Amino acid sequence: MNYYSLNKKSENVTFKEALIRGLAPDKGLYFPEKIMKLPNSFINNLNDFSDTEIAYQCIKQFVGDDIPKTILLEILDDVLSFNFPLVKLNNKISILELFHGPTMAFKDVGARFMSRCLSYFLNEKEGDRPVTVLVATSGDTGGAVASGFYKVKGIKVVILYPKGKVSSVQEKQLTTLGENITALEVNGTFDDCQAMVKNAFLDKDLLDRITLTSANSINVGRWLPQMFYFFFSYRDLNISNGDKIAYSVPSGNFGNICAGMLAKKIGLPIDKFIASNNINNVVDRYINTKLYQPEPSIQTISNAMDVGDPSNFIRISELYNNDYKLIKENLATYSFSDNETVEAIKELIHKYDYIPDPHGAIGYLGAKNFIILNPEYKSVILETAHPSKFPEVMSDYANNLVTPMQIKSIMNKEKSSIHIENYQGLKNYLIDS
Ligand SMILES: *Cc1c(COP(=O)(O)O)cnc(C)c1O
Repeated sequence: MNYYSLNKKSENVTFKEALIRGLAPDKGLYFPEKIMKLPNSFINNLNDFSDTEIAYQCIKQFVGDDIPKTILLEILDDVLSFNFPLVKLNNKISILELFHGPTMAFKDVGARFMSRCLSYFLNEKEGDRPVTVLVATSGDTGGAVASGFYKVKGIKVVILYPKGKVSSVQEKQLTTLGENITALEVNGTFDDCQAMVKNAFLDKDLLDRITLTSANSINVGRWLPQMFYFFFSYRDLNISNGDKIAYSVPSGNFGNICAGMLAKKIGLPIDKFIASNNINNVVDRYINTKLYQPEPSIQTISNAMDVGDPSNFIRISELYNNDYKLIKENLATYSFSDNETVEAIKELIHKYDYIPDPHGAIGYLGAKNFIILNPEYKSVILETAHPSKFPEVMSDYANNLVTPMQIKSIMNKEKSSIHIENYQGLKNYLIDS
């Protein structure tokens, strides 16, 4: 399986190379050259297959010969060692809980898959210099990557996060592991962190000295496995003939929803995608005006979606042949304020006795608004993180929220981070460590 760069100026590479590089040398995102439909006999009988078997069918064409079947199956088994429950809210709406992994956000799936593949590729050829995984986080990516790569031989992880702009739980997840994980606390915003990462990838002098890769959702190793749970949940819906299905995805960088669109491309019969956004709504404005105008991100209570220029939108465009009409046919978009988010949290608690996190609450608003206009649909909401990850937001509304063990145990640990003021600080750290 080969991948091309969406900037069209770099050579095509295999899965292995795309995963190790993260971004193509021309700074484009990698995209699969061929996308093949899975057989109907598989799609129509998902009930006969386990999570691992489904994941293998989804991913094998994208991995090609780079990982042998037995090893790929072992990796998938290990990656998917937690549940993906589908909770029925009412006759129309179900919630797919993606927070049962070690850091309680959906990003565990992609981060674990990427780390295990990278580790396999590095072990293949002994003697290479260690790889540094550099990642900027607005909240959940850092924790998932840290946990996914913890103690993996030959890999150092360096996480940049904006000081004071992640939740207390998210910060502990980044800063308490130690070993091969280092957290750099940046006096600035998430955009500043992301700009520093981009700088590092453009710095020839630095790249001569160390091997860098990225674990943000631009990496195919993180993006592709996000298809899996669209299949699991579709299987678990037990759809009767004629039901139309819309997936409501709380979106920031648009990696998760774009993986759902790829799942559809390989045969999963999803009728519509709903991109549910906070007020950082560049794609919503694009759908309404045909103009794509990125803006600096604005801080909200759904912080993992505070993205002003979603990096995966270019992949969505490519999937739909850069055809505005086709994108609009497949994608409904909504944008909600913090006040509306809080009202949705309260509504879910009072009406359904379900405690969502702020991102899932926005997913609910998207699904609800869509179904009012399109009553022939049923909807699945992706609940992208556990509410306990956002104690600052949730404490006012959910006094019976039970803090899970994973979170309790880290809250007592000592935080350890290094303060960074600018790119030179990052570079010095990377060279000296
Ligand atoms: C990362 C994240 C999102 C946004 O996902 P994208 O793939 O970037 O669109 C939504 N909710 C939570 C809780 C997240 O951590």
